[in-house]
Amino acid sequence: MAVEAYDLSGRTAFVTGAASGIGRACAVLLARAGAAVHCADLDADGLDGTAALVKDQGGTARTHTVDVTDSLRLGEAVASCERLDVMAAVAGIMHRSTVLETRDEDLDRVLGVNFKGVLHACQAAARSMIASGTRGSIVTMASGAVDTGGPGLLCYGAAKAAVVQLTRTLATEMGPHGIRVNAVAPGWIRTPMTDRGDSAAQAQTEAFMSRMSPLGRVGEPEDIAHAVLYLACDASSFTTGQILRPNGGVAMP
Ligand code: NAD
Repeated sequence: MAVEAYDLSGRTAFVTGAASGIGRACAVLLARAGAAVHCADLDADGLDGTAALVKDQGGTARTHTVDVTDSLRLGEAVASCERLDVMAAVAGIMHRSTVLETRDEDLDRVLGVNFKGVLHACQAAARSMIASGTRGSIVTMASGAVDTGGPGLLCYGAAKAAVVQLTRTLATEMGPHGIRVNAVAPGWIRTPMTDRGDSAAQAQTEAFMSRMSPLGRVGEPEDIAHAVLYLACDASSFTTGQILRPNGGVAMP
C-alpha cells in the first residue's frame, strides 16, 4: 500500500481531550496529515493553544469547549461537523485510590469521564458516519492498565477495561457499515497527567519507566499520535476491533 494511505486530505477529524498531552499531539498530527480538525475539551485556553499549533502547521482547527460527560452538548459539537471521517476519543482523567478507600463518587466520576465520555463520543461519531454513509474510523483511548492490576488503579483500570469492551463490541456492530473501531492502549507517556509536580520525583519515575522498556526511554505524546494516525487512515483499512499497544515494549504480565 502506498504512503498516500496516510493522507487525510479532504477528511474531517474530531479529537476529544485535545487541549493537552496526547489529544493535542493527535490533533496536530491528524492536521499535518491533511485533516480538518475539530478539537474538543473542557479547557478553553488549552484548546486555543492547540488550535494555534495546528495553524502553525498550515492546518485548520475548530474548537469546542465541551464536557465529554454531557452527551447532548458533545453530540451537538460532533453533529456540527459537515462530515466526520475520524473520531479520536482521547479525553480522560487519572484517579488513584485503593479498593478499600474507593468511594462510589470516585467510581462514578472516573467511569463518567473515562468510559461514558468515550461512549458518548463513539455514539455521536457512529451516528454521524452512518447518516452520511462515511466509511470512517473511530479510535478510543484505553491504557496499559487494562493488562495488569496496580495499587490504586481500580477506578481508572475498570473504566479503561470498559473502553476495550466498548471498542470490541462497537467494531462488530459498525463493521457492516464499513466503520472501523480500534483502541490505543499506551504505556507510560510524558504528559501533564503523568507529571508528579516535583522534578526529583519526576526524574525518578522517568528513569524507572525507561529501565522497564527495552527501548530505554519513556513515551512521548507524538508516539501515541502516530498510532492514532495509523488507525485513523486507510493504511489500517483491514484492522478493526483491535487494541494497539504503543508501550515501548514494556512487558505486561
Ligand atoms: P492530559 O491530562 O494531558 O490530557 C487530558 C485532557 O482531557 C485534558 O486536556 C483535559 O482537560 C481533558 N479532559 C478531562 N476531562 C474532560 C472532560 N470531562 N471533558 C472534556 N475533556 C476532558 O492527559 P494525557 O496523558 O494526554 O491523557 C490522554 C488520554 O490518554 C487519557 O484518556 C489517558 O487516560 C490516556 N492515557 C495516558 C497515559 C499516560 O501515560 N499519559 C497512558 C495511558 C493512557
